[in-house]
Amino acid sequence: MTKPNQRPGPNEPAWWFIVAAGELVLGRDEPLPPHGMAAQMPMPDLSEYKIVFLGELRERNCYLVLADYGDTQFAELGEFGNVRELLTVGDEALFAIAARAKQVSEFLSTHRFCGRCGVRMHEVDWELAMHCHSCQHRCYPRISPCIIVAIRKGRQVLLARGKRHPEGLFSVLAGFVEAGEAIERTLEREVMEEAGIKIKNPRFVGTQSWPFPHSLMIGFTAEWESGELRLDPFELEEGDWFDIDKLPRIPSAGTIARRLIDRLKTEIDQETESRG
Ligand SMILES: [Zn+2]
Repeated sequence: MTKPNQRPGPNEPAWWFIVAAGELVLGRDEPLPPHGMAAQMPMPDLSEYKIVFLGELRERNCYLVLADYGDTQFAELGEFGNVRELLTVGDEALFAIAARAKQVSEFLSTHRFCGRCGVRMHEVDWELAMHCHSCQHRCYPRISPCIIVAIRKGRQVLLARGKRHPEGLFSVLAGFVEAGEAIERTLEREVMEEAGIKIKNPRFVGTQSWPFPHSLMIGFTAEWESGELRLDPFELEEGDWFDIDKLPRIPSAGTIARRLIDRLKTEIDQETESRG
């Protein structure tokens, strides 16, 4: 079990996830969190900082160090940057711990007061939670499940550009699971709402923690069953069925969206081969 209060020793080689305002200190040469013994690194006195044990990465402990926005004490270790930059490293386990660091920091900064009775909350020392001693309300980090689905129709894949996507970047459909909803139902509902079509044969592929700010992406592939494409103009700017060999710009490697598109490509290529 994770012991959130575990403290690092001065000569303990560890990974340091230094977070301020949702950004993470990353090395200048390579976008990696600093790693090594605190006593031998250009680090300030860590007893001045709130530290949370996050877990292990390749047999080394990982610690979250909560810094303040604009803190220059870590400048020799790197610069504050977006956790997203870590995707380029192609290390899933490292990205997962960084995602945890960002979400724990978000949790602690947004749960200082009780949502039920308004008094100051306190950290629980044996689990990662905030507790109100006045009314006994206890909070855990918020995780928002979200489905993400790559849909095919023959050799074509449905891709769309959301309102917040950069110009020219197309991705698969995604949407949040609503309170009280089964994930199967979210899949049908989101695809119908966003694209006006019915799907069949949904297949679970995998999940990815997506700390912007606290989503858990649950990835599927599925097949078109019926209906004409009718995009939701409130959510999507543009979208269409694209031939698997003529895709527009799609999300980068390391994202679950890319993994789902690659999965469909492999499936389609294998079918083409077996037909000779
Ligand atoms: Zn309370």
